Amino acid sequence: MTHRFIVPGDALSGERVRFGPEQARQMSTVLRLGAGARVLALAQGEEVEVRLDEIGPTGAVGTIVARRPAAAEPRVELTLALPILRGARSEEIVEAATQLGVARFVPLLSARSVARALPEARRARWARIAREAAETAHRAGAPGIDAARSWPELFDALPAPVYVAWEEQREPRLLVALEPGCERLSLVVGPEGGLTEAEVALARERGATIVSLGRRTLRAETAAIAAVAQIMAALD
Ligand code: SAH
Repeated sequence: MTHRFIVPGDALSGERVRFGPEQARQMSTVLRLGAGARVLALAQGEEVEVRLDEIGPTGAVGTIVARRPAAAEPRVELTLALPILRGARSEEIVEAATQLGVARFVPLLSARSVARALPEARRARWARIAREAAETAHRAGAPGIDAARSWPELFDALPAPVYVAWEEQREPRLLVALEPGCERLSLVVGPEGGLTEAEVALARERGATIVSLGRRTLRAETAAIAAVAQIMAALD
C-alpha cells in the first residue's frame, strides 16, 4: 500500500511537493523510505502521486508524478458540534466521525458538560487524531477543530440546517428529518448528562430541528458516531 500524507494546499508548488518535519521523520524513521520512494500527498480534494527526492530533519521534498481528484471526500459538508467528554471519549468521536466524513468539529461546552474548558494541548491532540484518521480513510483533507463554544455561541457558528439530537425527543427520527440532496448541514450531540430543556428551547428559537436517534438512550459517543453514519449513508 502506498503511504498517504495530508498536506496543506500551499505544500504544492509547480511540480514540487513539500512535507513538514513530522511527516519527514515518519517517512525516514518509521517507514524507512528513502529518495526514489513513492508516496501519496493529499491536498485540498486532490490525490497527488509523489516521488521523494530528499528526506531530511527539517522536511521532505518530492516531485509530482500524477494527480487526480480524490475519490473519498464526502459530497456533503457536515459540521459536528461535539461535547467535551471525560477521558478519551471525545477523541473516540473525532477518530470515528472523521473516518465517516465529518468536515469540521465544533467543541461544545453545555450546561451539563463535566469539562469546563478545552485546553489548547487537548485541542491540538484532537487535530492530530483527525489528521491521522483522515489519512486512514483515504480522505484528501483533515477536518478542522474550532475553539470551544458555549451553547448560545454555537448557533452563530453552525451552518444551517442544524439538527440537535435530544434523548427526550420521540419524533421525528433524524433520517426522516434530513432533507434529500442537502449539501451542507450541522449536527449537535449533548454531553454525558444530556441537554437541558432550556438548551433545547434556545436551539428551537435559533431554527434548529430537534431529532430522535431511536427509542434507546445512547451514550454521547455512540449517539454521535451513529448519527454521522446515518447522515453519510443518506446524503453522501
Ligand atoms: N444522561 C442522559 C443521556 C445523555 S445521552 C439521560 O440519562 O437521559 C448523551 C447525548 O446523546 C444526548 O444529549 C443526545 O444528544 C444524544 N442521544 C443519546 N440517545 C439519544 C436518542 N435516543 N435520541 C437522540 N439523541 C440521543
